[in-house]
Amino acid sequence: LRRQLDHSGSLSTVGQMAASIAHEIRNPMTTLKGFVQLMEVTATGDTAKYLQVVDDELQRMESILKEMLMLSKPSEEKNSEFSLGVLITKVLEIMKPKAMFESIHIDWHDASFCNSMIYSNADKLKQVLLNIFKNAFEAMEPGGVLTLKLKKAENDSFQLTVSDTGKGMSTVQIQSIFMPFFTSKPEGTGLGLPFVLKTMEDLGGAIAVTSKPDEGTTFTLAFPQNCLEQKTSFQHNSAN
Ligand code: ADP
Ligand code: MG
Repeated sequence: LRRQLDHSGSLSTVGQMAASIAHEIRNPMTTLKGFVQLMEVTATGDTAKYLQVVDDELQRMESILKEMLMLSKPSEEKNSEFSLGVLITKVLEIMKPKAMFESIHIDWHDASFCNSMIYSNADKLKQVLLNIFKNAFEAMEPGGVLTLKLKKAENDSFQLTVSDTGKGMSTVQIQSIFMPFFTSKPEGTGLGLPFVLKTMEDLGGAIAVTSKPDEGTTFTLAFPQNCLEQKTSFQHNSAN
């Protein structure tokens, strides 16, 4: 099953709404946190236990708000020239301790991709990759394998496939995963993939997904070379 996605219109509306709600909720929450922490200082016995629960839940609310704000933040124009292969390697470094702890094998050979230069927003792409990798990890059992392949596509863009051997998804599930707040996890926020989709669209890229229940999932990300390509072609045939 393959689906190409385009919900950018509805996403920006939801994004704006999410941003204003997140802002409104953040202030009273800061007050709540302050008072809970104050009470924790003197609390004993059961009260201390209950306050810890309140504190933890406030923490969770805060991380949801953070993700909501990230989703709705307008994409800043902080583009630069960098190697996609090197960025992928760097982001995988962040995942390594988790991979070791959960006995997940990462299959990625970056040697030949030092030349995968693109002109894009590295910070945003880092967040995109982290979200995709995190989801893959969360879908896999110990012994799972995460396989990454980067290749040059016909139109001079780079294509990255990220395959996991996780629990996979049904056709119905795939139709919902890019919608804000859709999650199948008890502790999920459902904001990771909407962020991924929005960012890929903002940066002129694309994302597609194929999956099979109980076998695994493959996300395919296309990264345009963007201005790098334009710059080069401009130099080569400035008559155009
Ligand atoms: P969250 O991770 O908080 O649930 P996401 O937006 O990142 O939110 O993902 C939405 C849902 O998409 C997940 O809850 C899961 O059901 C599904 N999903 C995403 N990636 C995978 C994957 N690699 N394997 C299986 N299911 C996935
Ligand atoms: Mg996620």
